[in-house]
Amino acid sequence: MTEVRDTKDSGKALFATREYAIGDIILQEDKPLAILSHTTSYSAKNDSPFIAIAQAYQQSNTQLDIEAKLLSLYHPQADTANPAEQELWKNSQSAAENDDRLHKIIMIACCNSFQGGYVYEHASRINHSCQPNAIVNIQEDTGALLLRALTPIVVGEEIGISYAGLYLYTDTRARQHVLRRDKFFDCACVRCQEAVDPANMIPCTKCHPRHQSHLDEATQYDDDDEHPVKYMMWKSDQFVCESCDYVETLKSSVATVVHSISDKVLQFLEQYKEQDNSSKASSEQKDNAPQDEQDEELESLLQEHLSLASSVLGARHWTTNLLLLLYLDRGLKQYHKKLIFQQAADDDMQLDLAEHIDHLQRITQFVKRLKLHLHPGHLLSDVIVGIARALVSLSDVKSAQYATRWLDHLIGYEPFLSEALVKVVDSLKSAWTRMEADEPAHKKLKG
Ligand SMILES: [Zn+2]
Ligand SMILES: [Zn+2]
Repeated sequence: MTEVRDTKDSGKALFATREYAIGDIILQEDKPLAILSHTTSYSAKNDSPFIAIAQAYQQSNTQLDIEAKLLSLYHPQADTANPAEQELWKNSQSAAENDDRLHKIIMIACCNSFQGGYVYEHASRINHSCQPNAIVNIQEDTGALLLRALTPIVVGEEIGISYAGLYLYTDTRARQHVLRRDKFFDCACVRCQEAVDPANMIPCTKCHPRHQSHLDEATQYDDDDEHPVKYMMWKSDQFVCESCDYVETLKSSVATVVHSISDKVLQFLEQYKEQDNSSKASSEQKDNAPQDEQDEELESLLQEHLSLASSVLGARHWTTNLLLLLYLDRGLKQYHKKLIFQQAADDDMQLDLAEHIDHLQRITQFVKRLKLHLHPGHLLSDVIVGIARALVSLSDVKSAQYATRWLDHLIGYEPFLSEALVKVVDSLKSAWTRMEADEPAHKKLKG
């Protein structure tokens, strides 16, 4: 049970009127008010996204009562003081062709729609938080929406979901940039107001001198417990070493390098998302030659960015970890593809798998350090299941046991897993139980 209330700074919002436990359904909407074309690549030069929204709306023949509900959702006013909103107002105006009502609808779609352009009567009122306590799941074919509690929620607490996607795991500067660009607001959530952001740690520039701005390998990978790496934390516009108190200010060349690599990685993540989507769309077509070339190019770009981020910013920085996650996801997909042709994993594949597991361990540590009050499954469920599948496919009891240990990382996250993923998890667990039951017989035979 929830109610819509006015807030001091962020318009109307959704509040809990009872307690919720993790996984509880807070809100259910069987269908959206409207499905309006939605893309995040808005710009002053290109108003085609706005035109697409206008056309989608005009073709939808929306009834008057629905239109009234739509128009009651948030949109910027002409006299808004927020520069991002001013841009949105200005850039979307020509697509509306002097129709004020249509202009509002376009802005409402930009500010309130979920992926796929779905706009909802209640769920579209939920504000963003970089420390979300709930998550929305939308069924692609019907548009039915479920809102579930990600954390325990108390009476009177505002419901917050993340609009940031993967960028939820970046630092404050990157999150704010993306939210301003795609959703036209300046985030002032609790997490954004925290002074310290662990996603931003870099090895101290004094304790670990760089060679031509690159870290030595031990510092870069930070996996030698006897020689712990000393980190600098980003605190009120400067990096401060936790060990030697050395300070790098915002004006130092270090901050410039960190920010320029962050921007580069952000840009690459966008490119990756776009190209990955288009390669999924075209994978059904027969002639894949140009697609394969593009795909190879994307992979080598990914490696390039990853080695830059990791060698300059180290193992704990968000850029390294998000790129590593894409790399792992890709690697696992290739692994499973190979397995279809080869039936059993050869030595090379086993080496690959060991590397994938190492990467998953690193990213899991990164997620834990962020202390987001979010289950690690939120970011990692797909790759955890991918690793477990690969381990079980090795068909020995030890690997299968190790696989179940990885699946244990998903305990408590079951309500949020997709049906398909739940099936995979169940079949992996039963494969392990079977192998365990067969084990004594094997031993007897061998003995
Ligand atoms: Zn925030
Ligand atoms: Zn230091």
